[in-house]
Amino acid sequence: MTNFTVRTDKRTEFVKITSLVAKCLSKSSVQEGIAVVFCPHTTAGITINENADPHVLSDMVMKTSELIEHRDPRYQHGEGNSDSHLKSTLTGASETVIIKEGRLQLGTWQGIYLAEFDGPRTRCVYVKIIKG
Ligand code: ZN
Repeated sequence: MTNFTVRTDKRTEFVKITSLVAKCLSKSSVQEGIAVVFCPHTTAGITINENADPHVLSDMVMKTSELIEHRDPRYQHGEGNSDSHLKSTLTGASETVIIKEGRLQLGTWQGIYLAEFDGPRTRCVYVKIIKG
């Protein structure tokens, strides 16, 4: 397993980590298999989405923040970040990407992102490359 950290700048943002995951893959020398990308946090996640138009990411930040409000008097969690936990559950903690001929089999428009929902923070990402 390899891991790396990502420093986020905003409370909610998507940070592209495709090249960092690809670096983990190239260190492994695995040609065929899968890469599991896992985020060990409860207020962040991992997702795959558009890597070309940055407006897709800003739209996702805008709409998820609108749908899941930061402040809601019905939240019972005392830390004040229930919205972050909810968003993290929607995103999920991991993604699995197929490896073929030593490369991540992402679509042309796909990128791997750390989804930050309670930043700014330093986040860990674990990458497990499995030959098969
Ligand atoms: Zn919390």
